[in-house]
Amino acid sequence: MSEQLRYYSTNRHLDGVPGITPFRETVSFREALLMGQAPDEGLFMPEAIPVLPVDAFKSLKGMPYTEAAMLVAQAFLAGEIDEQTLRRIIDDAYNYEVPLENVFARKYIMRLDQGPTASFKDFAARMMARLMSALRDPGNRLNVLVATSGDTGSAVGEAFKGVEGIDVTILYPRGEVSGRQKRQLDTIGGNVRTVSVDGKFDDCQDLVKQAFSDPAFDDFNLTSANSINFGRILPQIVYYVWAWAQLSRDGEPAVFSVPSGNFGDALGCEYARRMGLPVEKLVMPTNENDEFPHFLETGVYEKVSPSRACLSNAMNVGHPSNLARFFDLYGGTLDRTGVVHRAPDLDEMRKQIYSVSISDRETKKTIKRIYDQYRVLLEPHGAVGWRGLEVYLELFGDGPLCISLETAHPAKFPEEIRELLGINPDLPQSMKDIDERSGEPVLLSNVYGAFRKYLQQNLRVTD
Ligand SMILES: *Cc1c(COP(=O)(O)O)cnc(C)c1O
Repeated sequence: MSEQLRYYSTNRHLDGVPGITPFRETVSFREALLMGQAPDEGLFMPEAIPVLPVDAFKSLKGMPYTEAAMLVAQAFLAGEIDEQTLRRIIDDAYNYEVPLENVFARKYIMRLDQGPTASFKDFAARMMARLMSALRDPGNRLNVLVATSGDTGSAVGEAFKGVEGIDVTILYPRGEVSGRQKRQLDTIGGNVRTVSVDGKFDDCQDLVKQAFSDPAFDDFNLTSANSINFGRILPQIVYYVWAWAQLSRDGEPAVFSVPSGNFGDALGCEYARRMGLPVEKLVMPTNENDEFPHFLETGVYEKVSPSRACLSNAMNVGHPSNLARFFDLYGGTLDRTGVVHRAPDLDEMRKQIYSVSISDRETKKTIKRIYDQYRVLLEPHGAVGWRGLEVYLELFGDGPLCISLETAHPAKFPEEIRELLGINPDLPQSMKDIDERSGEPVLLSNVYGAFRKYLQQNLRVTD
């Protein structure tokens, strides 16, 4: 077997910070996947990024998405997981389309909205779930606990549905999820259970946190499957590689525009470039939470707190968790609270990345204009991405190949689309099916004792 990649913590240099003992060891991918976060609250990073010849990317032209996933995953997971298992995982995870829609000239929209929850988060969550199943201790079940206020929980729940050896418990606040979200969560079924908590989202998070630190669950293999797990970043490298291979002519580089909140999606593009993919520029438009464009412009990092509520609600993030990884890749250190301990190489960052804040007003205008002009349907997140690309091209001149990401299905925003365009977007099949499902949540108070008892009576420890 070839040599394994090792993973280090973004906080390894944090000397003299109260409450943090820098984690200076390295771990395998398997450990990073099952631990989620480093013991010093840092984020795991691969020690070396595998570089592939450009011909390896070119050879994916006309190939199914799963071949691109194999190429990327094998480069990172060599020596940790055998080829046959990996192929099974990937074939099972990616059983849906990835449309590349031409807007005009060499400008494309990549639609990452065809998975079970019609969000790009399906790509990462489905692969991570299957990797966890394959890499867990044989015979021991993993118990995933998630607190959600809506969409994240359903993406995780759907991703783990039917995955061997893993049970999922999702907590949501009874009064705070929409009817559609509640239905989606309650009816996943099988190995995924929902607990409707008489309380707020913060109560749900507290219950989960208490369970994680409760010695009574030491032997229960509790895990969080959270968004900062490197296992969720790895699958997000793949679609850049695949899209470039399909659309590039003679190896020309592409500009990618990625609507950004916690920066995990854009990080996939950053890694793809470092693997050798010809990326001319990574455009990272944000909504009105403008801490990152502000940082690139001024060199001063100030998180937006509290975060601003915008139409593109999955990007309402005032301090992106994956920004610490970007800092690290450019030689800087940023801690969890938003303090910069070492500045990154700003010149180099500006060379590779462009970022701009897009207001809600511009977002709406973009949805309308792009539909009127090209009959291309965008929802608020994808519109932020597209408008960011336009601003970049206006400033730096028209580029060759441009690919802007659409991260959710427009049917998830029916009111906005109806108001702006006067049409009712058709639901994707995966979401139509939800109306035919049934299921009931477990009802609990927000008192930890009740949750604890529920877990003790219902979680399984072995297969
Ligand atoms: C999560 C999310 C984003 C932002 O992705 P990050 O990786 O957090 O930057 C964008 N659009 C949609 C629809 C999302 O759900």
